Amino acid sequence: MNVKTPPHPGSKKDVSRQGGCFHKYLFSKILRQTLSLVPSPSYPMPSVTVENYLKQIYLLQQGGELAPMGGLAVAVGVTPGTATSMVKTLADANLADYAPRAGVRLTEAGTRLALQVLRRHRLIELFLVQTLGLDWSEVHDEAEELEHAISDKVLEKIDALLGHPDTDPHGDPIPPSTGKPRQQKLTPLTECTPDMAGEVARVTDQAAEFLQFVDRQGLTPGAQFTVESQSPTADAITVRPHNREPVTLGTAAAMKIMVKVEE
Ligand SMILES: [Zn+2]
Repeated sequence: MNVKTPPHPGSKKDVSRQGGCFHKYLFSKILRQTLSLVPSPSYPMPSVTVENYLKQIYLLQQGGELAPMGGLAVAVGVTPGTATSMVKTLADANLADYAPRAGVRLTEAGTRLALQVLRRHRLIELFLVQTLGLDWSEVHDEAEELEHAISDKVLEKIDALLGHPDTDPHGDPIPPSTGKPRQQKLTPLTECTPDMAGEVARVTDQAAEFLQFVDRQGLTPGAQFTVESQSPTADAITVRPHNREPVTLGTAAAMKIMVKVEE
């Protein structure tokens, strides 16, 4: 038989499993060494893998719920089995609480580390857009790499250079160097009614195509707009960004644009 198996979309899974036992041994050794230093404020950065898990768990458990293991595996790009064993390791290190069949939640120590990663990610994104002139649709992937490499010293310089910003180019809150990020009350654009005025605050779908679309429509964070009409029958909302032509968006797209509504 000469049947070729097409590469399937989950081929990333197999790559992460290459390297076998030695890889695993080395990884857990490094992890133990790193994590044993966690309580000290001057500990070296945890590994890239640990940081990515903590960040994804944090993002998935927004709203105080447990992060589902299936969603976590997809977000990190591994098999559910790999995600489960990593989460158990994080639990052993007191960075997460794992509830079998229910999900995972970060401990206080895990949350602190996750917020540091998000702070680095979001400040880097803003730096790449504002200082280096990259497009907001291309900075996420760059920040994914740089967030693990940058020193605290450079990060705080970037923060000062940018004037200690509150949000990144997509409107995501930048966690402060200590403490929790402030919560902003935002409304999905779908909940706006005709004649309402508001300002775009955050775009939750950060796929490059969607960001480019939002940009073309003049609805990037900071843009002021007025709602012209809303039609549940057509499943659409028409808004007019200031000084621009009106734009009609379907509910699916409008749901991914969070706004501050003028009271
Ligand atoms: Zn962002």
